[in-house]
Parts: sequence; C-alpha cells; structure tokens
Amino acid sequence: MECNAMHPKQQVPLEAHSPFELRVNLGRDVPETDVRSALATGDMGFLHSFTTGSAVDGPGVRVVAWTAGCMWRCQYCHNPDTWTMSNGIPVTIARATEELSKYRHGLKIMSGGFTVSGGEPLMQHRFAVKMFKAAHAMGVHTALDTNGYYGERVTEEELESISLVLLDIKTWNPERHRALTGMDNAPTLAFARRLAARKRPIWVRYVLVPGLTDDMVDIGKIADFAGGLGNVERVDVLPFHQMGRFKWKQLGLDYKLEFTEAPTLELVEQVCRVFRRSGLKAY
Ligand code: SF4
Repeated sequence: MECNAMHPKQQVPLEAHSPFELRVNLGRDVPETDVRSALATGDMGFLHSFTTGSAVDGPGVRVVAWTAGCMWRCQYCHNPDTWTMSNGIPVTIARATEELSKYRHGLKIMSGGFTVSGGEPLMQHRFAVKMFKAAHAMGVHTALDTNGYYGERVTEEELESISLVLLDIKTWNPERHRALTGMDNAPTLAFARRLAARKRPIWVRYVLVPGLTDDMVDIGKIADFAGGLGNVERVDVLPFHQMGRFKWKQLGLDYKLEFTEAPTLELVEQVCRVFRRSGLKAY
C-alpha cells in the first residue's frame, strides 16, 4: 500500500527511547479510506514507536512495537497518547518487518524476543498478526501484550505464531471493571479460557494501584481463576507509577490519580502472596 508514503510526518523516527515519549497526530492526515484498508489488510499499521532493550515485556531482552489505538480508558493508563490510532506513525508492514529484522540475531542470542504492546494491539489485529508471523518466520520468540477484549479476532491458526500472551487482568468485579476501564471484562476472561483450552502460555499482568486495585478479595478471585486455568506460567504484579501523569496533563485529560502514590513493597508482596496461594508464580 502506498498509504501516505510521502507525508512529512513519517520522518518521525520509529525508534523511541521509551514509550513515555508523548507522540500525537502522527497519522492524522492519513485518509479514512487508507485507514480502513489498513485495518482490513494489515498491510499498514499505526505505531507509537519501537523500543529496544526491554526486560519487562516478556522473557529475556525484548524489542517492543507499541501500537496506537485502544478502546479502553483505564484510570491508571500511563500512555493515553496511544488511545487514538491517528496519533500513531503510519508504518507499512514491510518497514516494520525490516526494523525488527535488524535485531533478529541479537534477540536469539539473548534468548529474548519481540513483543507487540500498546495501546491495544488487537485494535489492529491483522497488522499485529502479520508482524507475529514475520517474527515467527525469523525464529524469534513472540509475545502479545493485550487486554484480551478482541481476542476472538485471532484465529486458531494465527495463535500459533504467538509464543506467549501477556494478559492484562485489571480487576475481577464487573462493575468495578467498568468503572476502572470503561469496558466489560467478560471477553478478557473468555480469551484466557480459550488460550487455556489451546494450552497456549499466559503471563498475567496485574497493575496494583493503592486505593483502586488493592482489594484482596477481588485479587483472590483473579488468583483463583488464573490458578485454575493451568496455562498461567507467572503473574507480574506491576506497581502503579506516575510516569504517565504528564501525558494526561498535556492531552488535557481528566486525571483522577493525581495524588495516588506507588504501592509499598509490603503491599506488592502481600498481593504476590495472594496469587501464590493459588499455586501461581508471582513477582
Ligand atoms: S488497556 Fe492499556 S492502553 Fe488501553 S487504556 Fe488500559 S492501560 Fe491504557
């Protein structure tokens, strides 16, 4: 696809030092017909950036493609500039694959891999799947970091190109989940069950926010659910931080967690213990 190939905004480097770079409007001028075509074919995607050297987005050292576009509105989201697809850089699948290819040997040597995160990668599921297939063909381990809401978009055959799913489970109680994210959690849980039935490995990610997601009863229900699946290899308890606060402010968004502090080490450990009681490895 020739999509906007000459647009000057495409000169923005795909690589970023971290996903905490504020990036907006980089795909704003892509015509609607091209956006639709991109979503239908996966020949072009909208990316916030590529980052290298991550040690927290799957096993080993990772190259991460951060996609733009998310239909959730988590109160603690630290990258709200990735909510809107038009904020992302329009990138052809050829360019994205070429970028990944630069790191293929290093990733294999370091037992690392390639992660697609976001935003929500499955907003652009055809593009994400094409990237996974390309990485898979290079012999690179692949991970999908997702809230799971659009999990049904990925076919059984396509799941085979995803080595690991990093599944974000935000909270258990459906009403609380809607208040926290704006969306239902039933599709996320259904995706988890489907992955379990297919014996596809999951790492659960749980963002711990004092006063918001620290209800031990609720966490216990997630732990019971995850422990019963049989395919959850580990749980990462991710302490809330304020690194994304400036983005909320610069985007003019109403940030409700202005004065929320990071959880103490004791609280993180307490939550890990709840997951461990269900037979899970938690860190
Ligand atoms: S699902 Fe992720 S990207 Fe989307 S709003 Fe929530 S934290 Fe942000």
